[in-house]
Amino acid sequence: MKCRKCRQKAIIYMPEHRLALCQQCYAPWFLEHTERTIKKFNMFTRRDRVLVAVSGGKDSLALWHALTELSYDADGLYIDLGIDGGFGYSEKSKQACMKLAERLHRTLHTVSVAEEVGASVPEIKELTRRVACSGCGLVKRYFMNRMSLEADYDVIATGHNLDDEAAVLFANTLRWDEEYLARQYPVLEERDGLRKKVKPFVYFTEKQTTVYALVNHIRYVREECPFAVGATSLYHKGMLNELEHHSPGTKRRFLDGFFRVRERFSAPEQSKLTPCQKCGQPTTAEVCAYCRLVDHVHRRQATHSVA
Ligand code: AMP
Ligand code: ZN
Repeated sequence: MKCRKCRQKAIIYMPEHRLALCQQCYAPWFLEHTERTIKKFNMFTRRDRVLVAVSGGKDSLALWHALTELSYDADGLYIDLGIDGGFGYSEKSKQACMKLAERLHRTLHTVSVAEEVGASVPEIKELTRRVACSGCGLVKRYFMNRMSLEADYDVIATGHNLDDEAAVLFANTLRWDEEYLARQYPVLEERDGLRKKVKPFVYFTEKQTTVYALVNHIRYVREECPFAVGATSLYHKGMLNELEHHSPGTKRRFLDGFFRVRERFSAPEQSKLTPCQKCGQPTTAEVCAYCRLVDHVHRRQATHSVA
């Protein structure tokens, strides 16, 4: 197959766009589409300081690279979850983020959950008997927001792609979870101490972000988080890929169609956010969920060491 722009040998065919591109023409196409999404949703401008939450995976590292190529003022934040999984998952991920930071000549902020909480994500899971992902999601959201406020960033960007967003939409729709549906959007505006959050890659498939990472020689961690293996979201992604295979463009139409009707789902009256009495971060309670988690972990650790 030949590249539509220059007739060289194509490296990717995107049936949903009926478009084949070569090694040279792919990155410019990808960057142009990134820019389009940023503009379409008014995500940020070149005057804003952007904090890219980087996990060490292909999507978020590709995002940091792409924003830098597009001359946005983008630094990275890596949250070290302390997950080993038999292959040093968190350590490898951190190394991948540090490598890219060096190459881009950009700042990478790092936060260690083990240092901040006094327990890593797997330890939190054991001590609280929560599913790993719920504690993990909570600490990630917390540190993204806290770091963006402390280091004065205007907006937080994450690497969620079309496959992620379509799978979440699918799950929310299966449950007709109106509250989640009302909140699922590539831009969440700033409010009461919660920074603006954006997903500039919502329209890119996993294949597209992977190819962008590959043509730019970005070294990323291929393994999934060991706790995510077997997750329902992976099963949903597989089903959506089957639909996509039969009818290219299904994932994009599913998501875009939803964005058009989304306002019909009314979010419940949002409770007012006030500063947490312990840490000052916004919360609907007196003490935020993160501080309550830290307290819980510390109490459990104390009883464990006594026993
Ligand atoms: P996930 O929930 O693992 O699919 O990740 C979704 C997005 O959250 C990624 O694209 C990153 O932008 C961000 N993210 C995930 N894990 C981390 C981490 N350990 N540190 C910083 N950002 C992360
Ligand atoms: Zn707090």
